[in-house]
Amino acid sequence: MQPDAASQHDHDHQACIADALAAAERICAERKARLTPNRRRVLELIWDSHGVVSAYDILAEMQKDDPSAKPPTVYRALDFLMDLGLVHRIESSNGFTRCESPLRHRVCQFLICDGCGLVEELHSRPLFENLSEQAAALGFESDYQTVEVHGRCAKCAKA
Ligand SMILES: [Zn+2]
Ligand SMILES: [Zn+2]
Repeated sequence: MQPDAASQHDHDHQACIADALAAAERICAERKARLTPNRRRVLELIWDSHGVVSAYDILAEMQKDDPSAKPPTVYRALDFLMDLGLVHRIESSNGFTRCESPLRHRVCQFLICDGCGLVEELHSRPLFENLSEQAAALGFESDYQTVEVHGRCAKCAKA
């Protein structure tokens, strides 16, 4: 796993996870989707960290409880959680991170701390539109955007 970004946060992370799971239950109920035990467990493991968690790490954790857990179990759960906007894929780190405001944003950019692993989200419409316009000016039709900025979070920058 990434260095534990959660441990650097000055808050009760267990309460944070509990809130996130409760919010996920509500979103699933609204969408008439089912947060099965596997899906719930995968979401919980991603929320365990405030950073990026790889599918491999998730599988390894799940196999501690259920040695028969297989990669498709994890990938299906991840697809479900991404469809509902509960988690995001971070391409440049080849893993997944929690969404702290699921379904409340249309666009999303990421700040990724290479010190502690913390991932923060930006939801900048102007940035999104600026990129789309520049692409369109070149005759490029964009389907989606991935903006991932690597560096150091405020805490790590100070340290
Ligand atoms: Zn998000
Ligand atoms: Zn950091």
